Parts: sequence; structure tokens; C-alpha cells
Amino acid sequence: TVALKDVSKVFPNGTLAVDNVNLDVNDGEFMVLLGPSGCGKSTVLRMVAGLETPTSGAVMIDGEYANDLTPPDRRIAMVFQDFALYPHMTVEDNIAFPLKLAGMESTPREERVASVATALGIGDVLGRRPSQLSGGQRQRVAMGRAIVRRPRLFLMDEPLSNLDSGLRAELRAEISGLTRELGVTTIYVTHDQAEALTMADRVAIMRKGVLQDVGTPTQVYGRPATLYVAAFLGSPK
Ligand code: ATP
Ligand code: MG
Repeated sequence: TVALKDVSKVFPNGTLAVDNVNLDVNDGEFMVLLGPSGCGKSTVLRMVAGLETPTSGAVMIDGEYANDLTPPDRRIAMVFQDFALYPHMTVEDNIAFPLKLAGMESTPREERVASVATALGIGDVLGRRPSQLSGGQRQRVAMGRAIVRRPRLFLMDEPLSNLDSGLRAELRAEISGLTRELGVTTIYVTHDQAEALTMADRVAIMRKGVLQDVGTPTQVYGRPATLYVAAFLGSPK
């Protein structure tokens, strides 16, 4: 469980990026953090990852302070828009790398890599290097590498924003399918309403650092908490 309690973040230049946010993410849940550019989504995610410290309030992960979990907790995986693969390694070795670091034997490692690669539709390119892949395939490899360890928490910050709309739609389904299959608790950041409503178990909608509404796609779309949420989602009047 991830719990944000009265979390605010003021940057040294005086910007109030996150304003008293309270939010719980349940085990195994796919939570989408949605809102326009600059509303504080990445700042929230970075605080959950322990990369940024709240100015006030607390972020708890399974009852521990997120900040106490750094240097990076290997059970928390992150994928950003600008991900980096190891260029000199094959796809298979890129995905297997975290398992090697963890000391897993080669047979179970290969099985794990194969099942993740198949789920992400890159089972046939395991022998290639990143330079021999399309952008969508590279993004799939980054996802595979992040999730292959079966993290307890999977954080994604606009991972599809560099891809064209056809690929985005395909990868949406693969990502939400895979995380649900593995039962990984996920927080997924996007400014794309359609993406949020199709992928989420629950959506958390932010505006100017303030959490406006939290609920299932049906709830936030059908019974928006504020006029802002209704307008942002294009809910029927
Ligand atoms: P986008 O969709 O464009 O990625 P976002 O919702 O992720 O936006 P954040 O990156 O969390 O927004 O930024 C929230 C606010 O905090 C913005 O006003 C931003 O300019 C500001 N901000 C972010 N990082 C810093 C920083 N290191 N120092 C000062 N201000 C910052
Ligand atoms: Mg951002």
C-alpha cells in the first residue's frame, strides 16, 4: 500500500508544486495520476520513489517512509519518457540484467525473460541490440526490464508520450494487462484523458498541485467531483 498523507512540496524557488495531497493506492491496484502539464504529477511520483522529499506530510510505502527506502529500493521500478537501454547488450540481456544483478540462476532467468518478452510482444527480437529496434520495441524492452524483477511497486511517468497514437493504444493494453497479470501495484502518470480512463482501476485527477477527484473511471467521468473535472474529462452535463 502506498499512502500519501497531507503531502505538500514547495521548491526552493517558492513554487508550490504539490498542495496537501491525500491519496491511498491499494495493493495490486493500477492508479493513474492525471492532469495538465505543470499540475504536479511528476513531483508526486518522484516523492513516492524517494527521489524528492515532501516539504510537509509523509509518503508511506507498506508502512515505511519512502525517503528511508533510498538509495534506490530494488523493489520499486520506474520507467520514464526518456529511458535508456544498454546499447551494447541484446534485448534479452537488457531485460535479464536486473535478475543477473540479483543473482538469479540462468535457467529461471531465461524463463522469466521469455515470459515477460512474450507478454510485451518482443519475444522474436531477443537477440537484437537496441539500435536495431523501433521506438515502440525499445519502449517495450524498457518496460520488460523494469517489471522483470516483479517489483512491489511500478512507477511510470508518461512512458508512451514519444510514440505515435497507434502504438500508444497497443502498449496501453499490454502494460495494463501485464501489471494486472503480475499483480504489481502501479502508479501511472499521464496528461491523456483517454489513456487514463482506459487503463486505470482508479484515476486521481490533479490541478495546480491540488487533488481534485479520485475514483474509478466510471465514477470520475459519470459523477465528477468538481466542474473542473467535468470539463477536463468532457463528462456529459
Ligand atoms: P508535465 O505534464 O509537464 O510533466 P507535471 O504535472 O509532471 O507536468 P511537475 O513536473 O510535477 O508537473 O511540476 C509541478 C510544478 O513544479 C511546475 O510548476 C514546475 O514548473 C515546478 N517544478 C518542478 N520541478 C521543479 C524544480 N526542481 N524546481 C522548481 N520548480 C519545479
Ligand atoms: Mg511530468
